[in-house]
Amino acid sequence: SIRVRFAPSPTGDLHVGGARTALFNWLMARKEGGTFILRVEDTDGARNTAEAAAGIIKGLRWLGLDWDEGPEAGGDCGPYFQSQRKHIYDAYFKKLEDAGRVYAEPDGAQRFKFSRTAITVHDLVCGDVTFAPTEEPDMTIRRPDGSYIFHFVNVVDDIEMRMTHVLRGEDHLSNTWKHIDLFNAFGATPPTYAHIPLILNPDGTKMSKRDAGSAIEHSYMNAGFLPDAVFNYLCMLGWTPKAESEKLSREQLTALFDASSIHSSNAKFDLKKAQWFNAQYLRELSPDALLASARRFLTDAGLSWSDDAMAAAAVHSVREKVSLLTEFPEWVHYFFREDYPFEADVVTKLKAKPENPGLLKAASEHLAQAAEWTEQSVHDAVEAAAKALNVKPGAMMPLLRFALSGQSRGPGVTTIAHLIGKEKALARIQRALS
Ligand code: GLU
Repeated sequence: SIRVRFAPSPTGDLHVGGARTALFNWLMARKEGGTFILRVEDTDGARNTAEAAAGIIKGLRWLGLDWDEGPEAGGDCGPYFQSQRKHIYDAYFKKLEDAGRVYAEPDGAQRFKFSRTAITVHDLVCGDVTFAPTEEPDMTIRRPDGSYIFHFVNVVDDIEMRMTHVLRGEDHLSNTWKHIDLFNAFGATPPTYAHIPLILNPDGTKMSKRDAGSAIEHSYMNAGFLPDAVFNYLCMLGWTPKAESEKLSREQLTALFDASSIHSSNAKFDLKKAQWFNAQYLRELSPDALLASARRFLTDAGLSWSDDAMAAAAVHSVREKVSLLTEFPEWVHYFFREDYPFEADVVTKLKAKPENPGLLKAASEHLAQAAEWTEQSVHDAVEAAAKALNVKPGAMMPLLRFALSGQSRGPGVTTIAHLIGKEKALARIQRALS
């Protein structure tokens, strides 16, 4: 069965490009009932950090990816950190020495003798790519300090970990002939390659670490995205599943995945589209699931509550108005506090007409008499108050909204009144009148 891997170099945060590579590998493994491996390529002591590796793992976990072998998961081919595999590289280096394919430079560095034959990569995405016999100098694979370079350890591990397919960024395509040359020197069969095109900014420039929407933790996890939405959106960067809609569950994406249908042209990143996906996913969540996702953003905004059911209903009531979890506090803060601010134009509108206080007062009196407190009974009380004054309920509802929330937009007035409860609703109207 197939074996694929995500092999990040932990130099910094997990970025969209890496995350998408991981997703595609994961989808392929899950679709084929294969094995997905996480291998941390941390042989560059100067640039790699344990924090970066931990951050990448955190980002992958947040996206809902699991791996069958790798850090935290274990497996037969470990350790899964390249920094712990020197003994394996030494043994493989010896094989090349025995085969007469390495020689030492005067400074001590060891070079691999290229075969200098034409090498063809049969790439699932890019098609057949043939490299003419190289004129480059032979490649240093072992430094004077005994450490090995990327191309060498990458290939050794792909052999040792028995990779059948390598799906990775297109930036590696130009060096793949070096990898195949090494596979051949070891007498090993190279894996099937699929090089995934780059992700470009909306303006067509190559997306870098500093660009908006590039870092998983900063731009998504902490910016109010749902993992399912990001998962779905990232899959659309360079791949168009054959389906009616772009909004597809993990199960659907898994069933539809086919590495050879990944586009060979570059993908354009679009943060607005990512937000659109997020909005679609947000409105499908149950009240409880929505609260679980929104909780940290509400508490970070200083909001607190004791009644989870009320808080869940509050966020659920505005789910169609937001596209990011970070937008919830501004839409629901008045459910949780009595010192909610009044928007300037709300104050103006409350005072605009001389009859407004009378309308509010009548609503308050009818609400006070309500025997039970449901959305229906709130509705009925307002209707009765309007009838008594011979006005339309529509003349009263906005005033109640202003009083109960301090805002001119939000969920239904009856929903707000119902959720905050009778006592608070009446007190809020009193305060608006005073
Ligand atoms: N460590 C390499 C990178 O992060 C992985 C290359 C590969 O997947 O073979 O780009």
